[in-house]
Amino acid sequence: MTKPILPGAAIGVLGSGQLGRMFAIAARRMGYRVHTFSPDQDTPTGQVADVEVTASYDDLDAVSDFARHVSVVTFEFENVPAPTAEAAARCARVRPSGSVLHTTQQRIREKAFLTNAGLPTTPYREVRSQEDLDRAIAALGCPAVLKTAEFGYDGKGQERVGSPDRSSEAWNAIGRQEAVLEAFIDFDREISVVAARGEDGQFVHYGAIENQHSRHILDVSVAPGRVPPKIAREAVELARCVLERLGVVGVLCVEFFVTRDGALLINELAPRPHNSGHLTVDACVTSQFEQQLRAVCGLPLGSTEMHRPAAMANLLGDLWTSGEPDWRAACAFPDVKLHLYGKLEPRPGRKMGHLTALNHDPEAAYRTVLAARRSLTP
Ligand code: AMP
Repeated sequence: MTKPILPGAAIGVLGSGQLGRMFAIAARRMGYRVHTFSPDQDTPTGQVADVEVTASYDDLDAVSDFARHVSVVTFEFENVPAPTAEAAARCARVRPSGSVLHTTQQRIREKAFLTNAGLPTTPYREVRSQEDLDRAIAALGCPAVLKTAEFGYDGKGQERVGSPDRSSEAWNAIGRQEAVLEAFIDFDREISVVAARGEDGQFVHYGAIENQHSRHILDVSVAPGRVPPKIAREAVELARCVLERLGVVGVLCVEFFVTRDGALLINELAPRPHNSGHLTVDACVTSQFEQQLRAVCGLPLGSTEMHRPAAMANLLGDLWTSGEPDWRAACAFPDVKLHLYGKLEPRPGRKMGHLTALNHDPEAAYRTVLAARRSLTP
C-alpha cells in the first residue's frame, strides 16, 4: 500500500468538463488543491480549480510538467490518449491506471474483457469491413446497432440498422471505421451501478439507479431504481466483479439493459463518475466525486447511504432556444437543487447542467424534477 495523499496535496485532473468540475468542488471542500489539464480555456473545471493548464493532449512535455506538480493524476473522460496517460504515469501516480483506460476506451476491447470474464453483455460482432458487417447482420439479425469502436458517447458514432439492405448506408454513416454490431435489445428499462474501489480492495456502491434516455443522451435518473431487489443485487454483484477484474482504483459505472424477462446485459463501462451518479451529490452521505477523490488518494471510502431518494434531470443546451431559462422558477421548488456547469455556449444536445429533486418517495422525486425542468421554459 502506498502512503495516502492527504489534504493540502495537489490533485491533477486530465479533462476539464462538468465531471472534473464536480470532482474539483469535492476536492477543494476537503482542502486539496486541484490542477486541470485540457486544450481549452475558462473551462467548467478550470473555473473552480486552483490551476488551469491549457495545452494539447499530444504535448507530452506539457503533460509531464503537469504531472510533476501534482501528487496523483486522475481523469474525467476515458478518451485520454494512451501516450498522454503514459507520460503522466512517468511523473506521478495515475488512477485508475492506464490499463483500465485502455480496456474501456475501445468497445471491442471492452466487450472482449466482459466476454472473457464471463460477464453478460449484449450479443455483438466485431466489424472492420463491409463484408464483416454483412456477416454480422446475418448472424445477429435486424434491427441492430452499429457503434464505432472508439470515441462514441451520448449516441455519437451510432447507427441503427433496420434491415440488411441498409448495411452499406450504415457503414458509410459511421465513416467506415472499426466498429461493433450489437443486437438491438428491446429492454424493459436501463439501470446503472456507480461503484468505487479503494487501493485495499474496499468496494462501495450506490445500488441500482434507473435511467431514461432521450435521443441516446441520458435524460432522467431515479434512485433507488424501480427494479426488483433481486435484479438490483445481481447488478451490484456484476459491478463488483467488473471493478475487481479490472483492478480499478477509483469510480466506475456499469450501464445495464434489463431485458423483459429480467436478465441483465452490460451495455457499457465508464471508468469515472457518471451522469447517472450526479444525484449522489445531493442525496448521499458521500458523493461519487468525493468517493473518486478518496479512492485515488488512498483514503478509506465514505458511506453511500442516501439521505433521501432522488431524481436527476439533465439540462441540455436546447433549453436556451428562446433565451435564458427561468432559474427563479426552478428555485421555487424547495426540494430541487440546481447545478450549472459554467459552459459559455449553450448548444443543442450539450449538457449545461442538471436538477436534482429529493423526496421520500422516488416517484414523487421523479415527478417534481420533471415539473421543475418544465418550469424553466415558457
Ligand atoms: P451507448 O452510447 O452505447 O450507451 O448508447 C446510448 C443509448 O442508446 C443507450 O443507453 C440505449 O438507450 C440506446 N442503445 C444503445 N445500444 C443499444 C442496443 N444494443 N439496443 C437497444 N438500445 C441501445
